[in-house]
Amino acid sequence: MLPDRFDDDKPHEECGVFGVWNVPDAAALTALGLHALQHRGQEATGIVSFDGQKFHQHRGLGLVADTFGDARVISSLQGPTAVGHNRYATTGETILRNVQPLYADFEFGGLAVSHNGNLTNAMALKRALVRRGCLFQSTTDSEVFVHLIAISLYSTVVDRLIDALKQVVGAYSLVCLSNDALMGVRDPHGVRPLILGRIGGNERNNGGWVLASETCALDIVGAEFVRDVEPGEIVIINDKGVHSIKPFSPASDRFCVFEYIYFARPDSVVEGMPVYEARKRIGEALARESAVPADVVVPVPDSGVPSAMGYAEASGLPFELGIIRNHYVGRTFIEPTDQIRNLGVKLKHSANRAVLKGKRVILVDDSIVRGTTSRKIVEMVRQAGAAEVHMRISSPPTTHSCFYGIDTPERGKLLAARHDVAEMAKLIGADTLAFISIDGLYEALGKAGGRGAQPAYCDACFTGDYPISLSDMTNEAERQLSLLPGQ
Ligand code: AMP
Repeated sequence: MLPDRFDDDKPHEECGVFGVWNVPDAAALTALGLHALQHRGQEATGIVSFDGQKFHQHRGLGLVADTFGDARVISSLQGPTAVGHNRYATTGETILRNVQPLYADFEFGGLAVSHNGNLTNAMALKRALVRRGCLFQSTTDSEVFVHLIAISLYSTVVDRLIDALKQVVGAYSLVCLSNDALMGVRDPHGVRPLILGRIGGNERNNGGWVLASETCALDIVGAEFVRDVEPGEIVIINDKGVHSIKPFSPASDRFCVFEYIYFARPDSVVEGMPVYEARKRIGEALARESAVPADVVVPVPDSGVPSAMGYAEASGLPFELGIIRNHYVGRTFIEPTDQIRNLGVKLKHSANRAVLKGKRVILVDDSIVRGTTSRKIVEMVRQAGAAEVHMRISSPPTTHSCFYGIDTPERGKLLAARHDVAEMAKLIGADTLAFISIDGLYEALGKAGGRGAQPAYCDACFTGDYPISLSDMTNEAERQLSLLPGQ
């Protein structure tokens, strides 16, 4: 059984995808790209390469450096094209056969698929496919793509892919590798990110292309950003260059706002906006909305750092590192027993007494999910001698679970689903607690939303407005949605 993800206090994110076309050392570059995307998934990783004749594959549980640190593994993954995946299980168990890229041999050749997101009709599709005789090898929702492509009556890979995509519902960014193309896809609402980059090239060689979840994966391999893959777009990269098709009916853009708040790496640029800048601006807006007399602004590292900087700038208060994070806390180290697991936050964070003693402290974090982290951090700051502790959160209250690929506990476990802000403040032990408002969030990001406007982002975790139907989850979602009277 998996440990409770929110107890081990590690960053829990969705998945990272990466692909590269026409470069020497494609597998090595893919390992580097996956390393830069490690924050999006730490449970497992894999690479599939193609040398023009044969596909080569390697997958492992754990971090990219553990699985691909051995040069012999990388050199066995031959060829100028490769795709990779970092997994944080949002569906399915952590077993090797669930580790992506998924690979299968078809009539048309081989196909490797890396998926970031979550399909909301995968269970229904799987039942129908199993009735038709499809033999599933894994328990991940992503495998339905493989079977839908296999049974499609179309002949080309791209037509089969489109046929499959038209049957799935949910959030997905895909990077696929066939015998003759690297393909990238974003779902019609563009919930999960995917970007296109250019790499290498000289007078004799046109150079290559990169597809990746985030721009931070371009920087590490020395690639240049070209553009975001658009919502509902399929890009097909082959020796002729990049070809784009948009086979879906138009849908509203609903990129996941939580990527800006927490998931994406701060040095990434998403849909034209640097994540770091977005977080700082949210912090500034938070300070304007919920100022309180205080002496110092302290981030909960690392995710609270940029918004705390914005808060400090806007409030004119000093920014100090009052909590120090130990980066060497391994998951296995804190997993074994409940007693050790409860120490988690102390292993990871410690109070910097010199900064906190006698001070009125504003603590800034990006979100409160179950409240465990905040409660422990507030207690730690008080024990270090803080005179007052004011918690400020750079997202609106997380009142609803995500069904689009972000790991959130069921609704009943979300603190904000069961308590108002005053009750939450008491429960986490803070003198005051404030969240940025949904209007303030949209204003900070410079996009429409809040104040009754059609939202530019998917903000379902804060509003319950789910832009993509939840057919699989209907029963579960309804059960969760009905947990609160009147909601
Ligand atoms: P909790 O302790 O359950 O309230 O979790 C809140 C903390 O977990 C915050 O410090 C966040 O940085 C972090 N966090 C936010 N969203 C997630 C997520 N989906 N998975 C894991 N951690 C998260």
